[in-house]
Amino acid sequence: MTTPVETSTHPQERKIVTAIPGPKSQAMHERRKNAVSNGVGAALPVYIASAHGSVVVDIDGNQFIDMASGIGVTTIGHTDPAVVSAVQNQVANFTHTCFTVTPYEDYVRVAELLAQHSPGTHAKKAVLVNSGAEAVENAIKIARKYTGKNAVGVLDHAYHGRTNMTMAMNFKNSPYATGYGSLGTAVFRAPSSYPFHDGLSGEEAAKSTIWYLEKQVGAQDLACIFVEPIQGEGGFMVPADGYLNAIQAWCTENNVVFVADEVQAGMARSGAYFSSETFGLVPDLITTAKGIAGGMPLAGVVGRAEIMDASHPGGLGGTFGGNPVACAAAVAVFDQIEKEGLLAEARRVEKVFGGGLRDLQAKHPIIGEVRGKGAMLAIEIVQPGTKDPNPQAVTSIVQYCFERGVLLLNAGTNYNVIRFLPSVKTSDVQLADVLSVLDEAISAL
Ligand SMILES: *Cc1c(COP(=O)(O)O)cnc(C)c1O
Repeated sequence: MTTPVETSTHPQERKIVTAIPGPKSQAMHERRKNAVSNGVGAALPVYIASAHGSVVVDIDGNQFIDMASGIGVTTIGHTDPAVVSAVQNQVANFTHTCFTVTPYEDYVRVAELLAQHSPGTHAKKAVLVNSGAEAVENAIKIARKYTGKNAVGVLDHAYHGRTNMTMAMNFKNSPYATGYGSLGTAVFRAPSSYPFHDGLSGEEAAKSTIWYLEKQVGAQDLACIFVEPIQGEGGFMVPADGYLNAIQAWCTENNVVFVADEVQAGMARSGAYFSSETFGLVPDLITTAKGIAGGMPLAGVVGRAEIMDASHPGGLGGTFGGNPVACAAAVAVFDQIEKEGLLAEARRVEKVFGGGLRDLQAKHPIIGEVRGKGAMLAIEIVQPGTKDPNPQAVTSIVQYCFERGVLLLNAGTNYNVIRFLPSVKTSDVQLADVLSVLDEAISAL
């Protein structure tokens, strides 16, 4: 039994009181090694005792400013009081009936909220599932059923998950698919837009993407194309202006379903409910997960009603999909985004933290590029004077910050990107503190 976090007194600054990881975390890690599969990674192996707002506390009493948010999940902060109370109420009321057996209101409410807050005024419908990868898998089924076509288009540097079909969609074979046998079929990959490296305009990059897809598979066989409007694991690449719009226009002309995988970039992270909106896109389907339910496992596909309804009853769903506790949390997250003006808070983070990163870039030539939107920002670390990747420096910087109470994640096909996924409510003071640690870390290289 653990006691609930007393949120009003939970610390909101970093503080290191032991070696990192501390002795209790190290002992716990030994226990873990005997019990947990080696296949499960451990990026920052301190074991967490409590968390609130933007700070997590480990079992040794060390306090960390959380710039990872469990990979962009606790977007509105850890243990947001509205989410905690929605979850507590729902747990005590009922925890499960299976929506496909005996339904309940909050599932319907989440579907309504997704329709309301995703781009476009057309009729939309949704299905809820448990994880981002499952949402992607479902979007493929939905697109195939609607178009009667089979092939799936994906981009360079893409990441879509770790299930069988999504493994085939990831750009990197290692570590995601190495040795895991035959992959889902009919996946075709095309170049993406990566302005820092390809130097192409949106129009030029889209021409290349479309050429690859036309030659390798052709619109007559292509059911859908998946894009991450801001690529996540690949390194937070923001495509050149007009790139995504040109891909979408080609999809519309050719009866190819345009799917925006917003699992990482969606749910207020970019300063809009869905990052597609910031590019003027109206995707046919959107996949959502990570930030949607304040840390509870929930995911979904939302999109054009006629596409979503092409599936026959019983074709979509699952035992736990749209679990009532997770749905109650998601309703609270949507409420908090409105009540607390959290889209504007994400844009504040972009201004304050993005501005600070650009100041660091002016000082440290190892920062090749600062990019991202809202509270989804990154720096690409290069060999100074070149655009060549510098993954060793990333490892050193992440470790330096970790040991001083700042949790950071790497990203990038070449592991040479540091990504920042703070809660949108991380204060200016906390952001300035992180910037000062980062400055020290880079200076110490
Ligand atoms: C994390 C992620 C996924 C996979 O989500 P899981 O919940 O881990 O299955 C899919 N797409 C994108 C863009 C992601 O960032």
